[in-house]
Amino acid sequence: MKDTYFIQYYDKDPWFILDGKTTPKFSFNNGFSQTYKILKNRGEFIWLESGDDIPIDRGNLFISLQYKEDGLDKIIQTAKDNPHLNITLGGPYFFVKRNIDVPDNITLLQQITMEEYLGVKFNPDNWGLELPPGFHNIGYNFSLIEGHGCYWGECTFCKWGNQRNNYKILPIKNVPIIDYEGPKIISLRSSSLTPKMMKLFTTFPARDDVFYNAYIRGDEQGYKNFLKILPKMKTNNVIISLGVEIPSNEMLKNIKKGTTKEMILKTLKLLNDYGLRIHLSFMLGWNNLSKDIVNEVKDWMYELDRSVDIKKISVLLYRLMIVKGRPIYDNPPGFIKERPDGMFECILDDNQWYMNESIRKLYHKFFNDRLVDFYDRKDDLTTLKRTWKEKV
Ligand code: SF4
Repeated sequence: MKDTYFIQYYDKDPWFILDGKTTPKFSFNNGFSQTYKILKNRGEFIWLESGDDIPIDRGNLFISLQYKEDGLDKIIQTAKDNPHLNITLGGPYFFVKRNIDVPDNITLLQQITMEEYLGVKFNPDNWGLELPPGFHNIGYNFSLIEGHGCYWGECTFCKWGNQRNNYKILPIKNVPIIDYEGPKIISLRSSSLTPKMMKLFTTFPARDDVFYNAYIRGDEQGYKNFLKILPKMKTNNVIISLGVEIPSNEMLKNIKKGTTKEMILKTLKLLNDYGLRIHLSFMLGWNNLSKDIVNEVKDWMYELDRSVDIKKISVLLYRLMIVKGRPIYDNPPGFIKERPDGMFECILDDNQWYMNESIRKLYHKFFNDRLVDFYDRKDDLTTLKRTWKEKV
């Protein structure tokens, strides 16, 4: 089919630690890989960096934004400026949180995968990835699920809440390794690794240049499963991402995280004992902290430092952001305010601001230059990432 283009984006992700400190890597949000061999004959594949101008002014454009809104405003403007373009936007995790004015020549798919939209059934044999020339030190994604959701689905702030059964685990037997020079980080895409998905880890070959990344919950079930899986793994080139949010049992209970600070620590010790790399995320911006909670966090950080090789941990610090409609959103008026990107954040009085800041200082002290701090972002992620990129 002529005049058909499939646009995918790459960007710099700052959040993995491979060589002693957190360094930026090019990361491909390769949203058409699952259908690559089918779509290859139907149009042209184009890679763009998030925020780049779209070099096409007519025809049919299918754009995979994955879960990112990066470049969305530019895409909308391009559609307005070029009435002969028909743009279809989507991706498995893509959803727009704010009110936007979408022109008629854009079809906006929210949380619908391109595979679903194009009526393509998943088949591992159709997976493929073409790299733009000259790229090294990058990572790419490989999906373990079709659809979206998380098997826990309870956390009060999270967009995957109430979406427990909205995905299907794909019948993956092995994960493709694209050969190119330099380290490859393969992100196994799933909202949260289920015990069934974990078994895949035993199939990964030991290669110095290949790293696997997956997100797990630091809960009892995850711990028990890892305990069985870890001795059978051939490689420990694995980066486990885990959302701690805040290591206080009171707070974890409030947000229905379904685990405890002790359980998280136990899981981290286990991963550390097997030499796996750890990537944590924390959130600040809480408006219900107390001195006891701050001390709880402090004690946990000292305990973490005593129990694991903290230098192997990379960290992202986020602001607590609340999705409209989640339980935490229903708190009394004055509790939250809307942000420019359509999400909500807590309103902090001076006392709460101070306590959040003291926890933040603590994280910086322990994680040092392995922590990427997004807590201050007041704008959408696009602007923030651009600022971050200018710094590196
Ligand atoms: S925060 Fe993580 S564990 Fe909690 S519902 Fe969301 S994806 Fe699941």
